[in-house]
Amino acid sequence: MPWPTYPMVLKTSTSHEEGADRHWAIATKEFIGDDKGNLKGLKLVDLTWSFGEDGRPGRFVEVAGSERTVPCELAFLAMGFLHPQFKGMLEDLSIETDERGNVKATEKAYQTSIPKVFAAGDMRRGQSLVVWAISEGRECARKVDEFLMGASQLESKDNSLMHLSM
Ligand SMILES: Cc1cc2nc3c(=O)[nH]c(=O)nc-3n(C[C@H](O)[C@H](O)[C@H](O)COP(=O)(O)OP(=O)(O)OC[C@H]3O[C@@H](n4cnc5c(N)ncnc54)[C@H](O)[C@@H]3O)c2cc1C
Repeated sequence: MPWPTYPMVLKTSTSHEEGADRHWAIATKEFIGDDKGNLKGLKLVDLTWSFGEDGRPGRFVEVAGSERTVPCELAFLAMGFLHPQFKGMLEDLSIETDERGNVKATEKAYQTSIPKVFAAGDMRRGQSLVVWAISEGRECARKVDEFLMGASQLESKDNSLMHLSM
């Protein structure tokens, strides 16, 4: 798969071969404990991948009637990036976020819902790549400069110094 396309490859390591059953598209609804607080089971439900009314992919919908309980004594949580942490600075500022929980600011202006507060990188676009963080940092710096000074000499995608010297 050419970068940055996500490689849809099912990897099977020696650990898997030793004896593991892998199940996908399942949500854990509940951790069931005994009266001493030990984990005893998981309440699971199957999920199906669905498109929203706005046509955007990425919504899991529970499969009706698929709820079940499986015995479990040890659970590992492997969690991905969801959105920036709200508690603290973002909550204190009452800053507006988008439908994915990232700080709302357009790629054109990098200006948030709070005057004089700008956002770029993962906080604005969601979990991404270092190249995007660098690019957004530079573009955002130019927008801040323009905001403060009325104009900017800083390089940006539309204002490359290389173009001037050619
Ligand atoms: C495990 C992992 C692996 C990754 N691997 C890759 C990879 O191989 N290649 C790739 O391109 N990208 C990778 N990424 C993504 C990449 O690291 C991010 O896209 C990039 O670092 C985002 O840069 P950023 O400047 O937007 O945010 P960050 O790098 O998250 O920087 C934000 C900074 O703000 C600081 N901060 C937060 N709150 C406050 C506050 N209230 N006051 C002051 N400072 C604050 C944080 O401490 C942090 O230093 C990976 C990310 C993770 C988590």
